[in-house]
Amino acid sequence: MKATGSCMCKAVTFSFDLKNQHFDVCHCSMCRNWGGGPALTVESAGNIEFSGEENITVYSSSEWAERGFCNKCGSNLFYRLKDKSHNFCNFNLGTLNNHEEFRFTTQIFIDAKPSNYSFSNETKNMTEKDVLEAFGISE
Ligand SMILES: [Zn+2]
Ligand SMILES: [Zn+2]
Repeated sequence: MKATGSCMCKAVTFSFDLKNQHFDVCHCSMCRNWGGGPALTVESAGNIEFSGEENITVYSSSEWAERGFCNKCGSNLFYRLKDKSHNFCNFNLGTLNNHEEFRFTTQIFIDAKPSNYSFSNETKNMTEKDVLEAFGISE
């Protein structure tokens, strides 16, 4: 199944294969700083195609990951790992055309969530340690 979406000004449009019909929320401080709040993201399974790619600026946010946004309107579009295959790429839920069809399943970096907000959805909650273990990264 494919997902399609665009930035706010439509200078960038994209499509990709969906991994599943779920979205996750990341509460880490970098996601909150990037987007002004927790990141709601959908995982791609590849076949990512952009039009208007010249309007995308990619910001290197850490040694291993980077974040893309529209340099005309500022919409945050994706977070991906830098390895050249770009096999791991999450798109922001709000940029997808059919974003209301996705189910909220998991919250990650739950231990980084500030205490002044919380979601009432019943989800699987993972700490930073849980996430790093799931990705096979040990500190
Ligand atoms: Zn735009
Ligand atoms: Zn995050």
